[in-house]
Amino acid sequence: MVVPIFNEAGNIEAMLRRLVPVLSQNASSYEIIFVDDGSKDDSLAKLHAVSATTAHLQVISFSRNFGKEVAIAAGIDRAQGAAAIILDADLQHPPELIAEFIALWRQGYKNVYGVRADRENEAPLRRYLTDKFYKIFESFGETLLPPGAGDFRLLDRLALDALKQMPERARFTKGLYAWIGFKSVGVSFHVAERESGESKFSYRKLTRFAFDGLTSFSTLPLKVWTYLGTLVSLFAIGMATLVLFQTLIYGSDVPGYATIVISIMFFSGVQIISLGILGEYIGRIFAEVKRRPMYLIAEEFSSESAASDAVSAPERQMTHV
Ligand code: UDP
Ligand code: MG
Repeated sequence: MVVPIFNEAGNIEAMLRRLVPVLSQNASSYEIIFVDDGSKDDSLAKLHAVSATTAHLQVISFSRNFGKEVAIAAGIDRAQGAAAIILDADLQHPPELIAEFIALWRQGYKNVYGVRADRENEAPLRRYLTDKFYKIFESFGETLLPPGAGDFRLLDRLALDALKQMPERARFTKGLYAWIGFKSVGVSFHVAERESGESKFSYRKLTRFAFDGLTSFSTLPLKVWTYLGTLVSLFAIGMATLVLFQTLIYGSDVPGYATIVISIMFFSGVQIISLGILGEYIGRIFAEVKRRPMYLIAEEFSSESAASDAVSAPERQMTHV
């Protein structure tokens, strides 16, 4: 299991209470990897506490908040199993569905994803904008995202290894899951209300994420300027011919001030937008070529080490005696 955690102190225990029984019934062995993505609340303390009482836990704690996509990547880097399941910590993803994921995986599916049956418990504006984003993403047509699929999914070892080969920093994981392919199947589920706390995704964060998604999966925003530029040039050549003949036949005239100002403003706008798009891509190239590590780990521990500490403490005393 890979569970990203950002300020989820109120959810960790409730989540484990539902998750552990499902895992012990459906898997012969398992590990739960919590990735603390620089939480500012008591999440890390809670993780320390549960690691003393719950078996098979591993915790990686980032040096700061790197974002959910990176937290998932870190969890996948660590995962040892024949498959990994990614799960939100807020119980919006029902752990009981994992039984079905595992059953489908045993039938040979390499990528089993949860599909939201509805988005009722999202703000209408967020739902509307999300919908628009997917429409735009789809119209670019380079990578097809299954509608309603998110991060709640099971990935086979083959898919995990494929994802590990993608070191990009601007990660749009939903796109990566689709890009890698493999035999996939969706399982519909009802998205529950958040157990406690609120969504960590502000509109600003979501907008950034949308740009990451579009620019890392399509070069259409770059190419469109070639077509637009060609059209504008053809139009200009047409206009030039027209004006030339008009001048030859009727002589020159001065009016046209408004047309000139409007066309200057319009085409300056077009040029600035195209520069901005170029800037988006160059910014991303810059971020990638710096080759900074994707994340930094400040602390890691596991329930095994907590358990072995408890066992080895008296032994150490013995040897001193
Ligand atoms: N999360 C994270 N880093 C972030 C934001 C979110 O690890 O910067 C985790 C969060 O703790 C939760 C999951 O990602 O386990 C989904 O976040 P959230 O519930 O806020 O997203 P939503 O359900 O609103 O899409
Ligand atoms: Mg959530």
